[in-house]
Amino acid sequence: MSGVVIIGGGQGGYLTAASLRQYRFTGSITIVTDEEDLPYQRPPLSKAYLLGESDSRRLLHRQEKWYADQDVSLVHDAAVAIDRAARTVTLASGASLAYNHLVLATGARNRALPIPGSDLEGVTGMRVKADADSLSSKLTAGTRAIVIGAGFIGLEFASVAAARGAQVRVFELADRPMARAVSATTSEFFRTAHEEWGVEFEFNHGLASINGENGHVQSVTTNDRRTLPADIVVYGIGVIPNTELAEQAGLAVSNGIEVDEDLVTSDPNISAIGDVVCFPCAQLGGAMTRLESVQNASDQARAVAARLTGNPAAYRTLPWFWSDQGTLKLQIAGVAHGYDQTIELASEAGQKAVLCFKDGALVAVETVNRQTDHMLARRVLADEPDLSPEDAAAEDFDFGAWADSRVAVPAA
Ligand SMILES: Cc1cc2nc3c(=O)[nH]c(=O)nc-3n(C[C@H](O)[C@H](O)[C@H](O)COP(=O)(O)OP(=O)(O)OC[C@H]3O[C@@H](n4cnc5c(N)ncnc54)[C@H](O)[C@@H]3O)c2cc1C
Repeated sequence: MSGVVIIGGGQGGYLTAASLRQYRFTGSITIVTDEEDLPYQRPPLSKAYLLGESDSRRLLHRQEKWYADQDVSLVHDAAVAIDRAARTVTLASGASLAYNHLVLATGARNRALPIPGSDLEGVTGMRVKADADSLSSKLTAGTRAIVIGAGFIGLEFASVAAARGAQVRVFELADRPMARAVSATTSEFFRTAHEEWGVEFEFNHGLASINGENGHVQSVTTNDRRTLPADIVVYGIGVIPNTELAEQAGLAVSNGIEVDEDLVTSDPNISAIGDVVCFPCAQLGGAMTRLESVQNASDQARAVAARLTGNPAAYRTLPWFWSDQGTLKLQIAGVAHGYDQTIELASEAGQKAVLCFKDGALVAVETVNRQTDHMLARRVLADEPDLSPEDAAAEDFDFGAWADSRVAVPAA
């Protein structure tokens, strides 16, 4: 294996290169990134960075010197075509790169806001550093901020904006926050916390239009025809995987680029990882699944790098997620898709733990400000835990003690 080309310099792209070098890959590595910046981390954009607690240097995965030291070439250009027969990638500049193995880590882009006025100045999604910079410059005490979508990103933004003194109103078509990601009881916990921080919610409501003057947002009109003043509008209504390059190259694509359990696409010379990938998820019985998380992009990057350096292993890593909102750290171990029963554990004020069961089996654990329990949950869930909902519901059930007993290192 002499040359690896990685398309996309985000979480997965950067970590593929770093892991290849860590696993002593000696061939050439090229990352093609269509962003101006060095590869950086996205999660702080809607958290510490927007809050002003982190600067752009600390966002970077590595400083420039690392790329030279590790002999990793960074090409700031967009890949526009793949010639699978010739094993080359064409860039927007017209340049061409040859590969022995290609890794697609093109991520996802924000779903566009499908209402009039979404092109006005002051209307922003949250995906790249420039979005956070633009929002940060407009967030001052009293800024009237409208948020569309009460998912992770909308709520992270809402908590930061409220902390910076903005008046925040969140519109959500569902009847509760993070409805697709967490249980109803965890939704309720976060709704109450956000309201205490000054965030206002309008559930079961969306916007009909965003209205502007001189090209800048001035107000929004709700779908029940109320007009509310607005200085900025931030939307987080889901993402679309960047599959165009793979489609053009004739790779199998459905809800993402399809890969097998080794993260190989329908072309054995091309792997794909991260937000753009649809993979057979071991925790969901092999169902083709697309996940959007740092864990998913990072662990898949490491798995591909391991395979390319002679250590193949089917990708079966347990998914986990987190979101920081105000003083609350939400962590989810496992995939809660399709759970049919939840058991809530006794918690101290400001904390929460919810066990999610499907057909009597523990499939996910949601925790808030319970880091130790989250780590234990990740370890027990990796091994088909033998916990029934009845046992978990018992008054004297102690999750920590039970999990500890399941993951204890056996005596020699
Ligand atoms: C504001 C924000 C907050 C987040 N917070 C969290 C969090 O708290 N926890 C968590 O687990 N996850 C979080 N995420 C999600 C997480 O950042 C993503 O899941 C992760 O970055 C996915 O990595 P990736 O490599 O697949 O894609 P990305 O990191 O998005 O990287 C893809 C890169 O490929 C580039 N690209 C696309 N097409 C081309 C092309 N043709 N040529 C060249 N380059 C191309 C893109 O511009 C981009 O730079 C957050 C995301 C955002 C936007």
